[in-house]
Amino acid sequence: MAIERTFSIIKPDATRRNLTGKVVAKFEDAGLRVIASKRIQMSREQAEGFYAVHKERPFFGELVDFMISEPVIVQVLEGENAIAKNREVMGATNPADADAGTIRKEFALSIGENTVHGSDAANTAAEEIKFFFADAELVG
Ligand code: ATP
Ligand code: MG
Repeated sequence: MAIERTFSIIKPDATRRNLTGKVVAKFEDAGLRVIASKRIQMSREQAEGFYAVHKERPFFGELVDFMISEPVIVQVLEGENAIAKNREVMGATNPADADAGTIRKEFALSIGENTVHGSDAANTAAEEIKFFFADAELVG
């Protein structure tokens, strides 16, 4: 296994309910280290660009409206096998399908308001990190 970096967003349903510390604790308990973090209000243009891969999906408008509804926390997580490990600790997209102990099982409200985003592969992790962070902001 290798040390990897992955990109995470703590979504508006979590910032709204003051759950950001509880979410970060799940990352840290899983052995992931937060090496960059900022709280931002995403613009519509940013959200549409970030989720461009989903633009033909029926939920795209709803997803963009949600992601700009409240501030979010964008982060870079580092650790052994970080991309897969983060997906594991996040749980399934739909909280109804998520395993016990995962972030989405414990905190998500619905398939849309599902508390966290995490990169799904090495190439998307690199692209997503670059979308929100300059190299100098990553302090491992
Ligand atoms: P993410 O990319 O946010 O980490 P994911 O990879 O588990 O989540 P995707 O299929 O990439 O899931 O969907 C991106 C996001 O779009 C989901 O996290 C969720 O917020 C939203 N979404 C997905 N499916 C639906 C749906 N059927 N209805 C409403 N929103 C949805
Ligand atoms: Mg995804």
